[in-house]
Amino acid sequence: MTSVTPKRTRHVLGLSGGKDSSALAIYLRDRVPEMEYVFCDTGKELPETYEFLTLMEAYLGKPILRLTSERDFDHYLSVFNGYLPSSRMRWCTRLLKLKPFEEYVGADEVINYVGIRADEQREGYISTKPNIKSVFPFREDGITKADVLRILEESGVGIPGYYRWRTRSGCFFCFFQRKEEWVGLAREHPQFFEEAKAYEKTDDESGERFTWRQGETLDELIEKERLRGERGEDAKTARGPRRNLPLVSVFAEDDEDDDGERPCLICEL
Ligand code: SF4
Repeated sequence: MTSVTPKRTRHVLGLSGGKDSSALAIYLRDRVPEMEYVFCDTGKELPETYEFLTLMEAYLGKPILRLTSERDFDHYLSVFNGYLPSSRMRWCTRLLKLKPFEEYVGADEVINYVGIRADEQREGYISTKPNIKSVFPFREDGITKADVLRILEESGVGIPGYYRWRTRSGCFFCFFQRKEEWVGLAREHPQFFEEAKAYEKTDDESGERFTWRQGETLDELIEKERLRGERGEDAKTARGPRRNLPLVSVFAEDDEDDDGERPCLICEL
């Protein structure tokens, strides 16, 4: 009778480029030395995210594998007849983030480490694949936002540069952005703002508009925000970059939401 060697369980931590998954990687570096670190790269990420991943690799002493989809965003956009992804149709997360992750895992038994904190009520990406078991060390260990900040600061890694003007990781054109974050994108990365604008279209026959934000184009948003700024309305929206703020101030606002909706954890955490 031939003996069958039991399959080794793999340990995988998906980094989003955000603070919580990064802090979790730092927190677990020495506890789970066999950890595999991955980043699902849509090809539409912010440069600050890539810079931060390089810093994280230096701290972790291991590469962070970039997982990409076989086909890119533009391909899928044409498959969806030009319908930009939205909170109701998150095809981008499914095809450009979740699918590459599940393909990478394959049929292996995997423990997937998720950085949901003890002080937040949210559901994680819980794969329906029976071979992927998600665990939540921060929840189990009572780690809160203040602890996450401390972990990042004490490691010396700090936070990604985009937190100066944006509250979340993810694609530069993410439709979950708040108005002021679109304004921040236009200011910080005008070329990406133009690229995001170029995806907005109007159907010549039906007049239907395909826009990142419901009911307004990015040009319209910027013009409205400019006028509001001129009138001195809504200082929060019109604010400039948040340079030189302590971490605790930068993160104070990141749980506020325009509409209560948040991106999937694999994009944002
Ligand atoms: S960050 Fe936003 S746009 Fe990018 S995949 Fe996630 S939900 Fe989609």
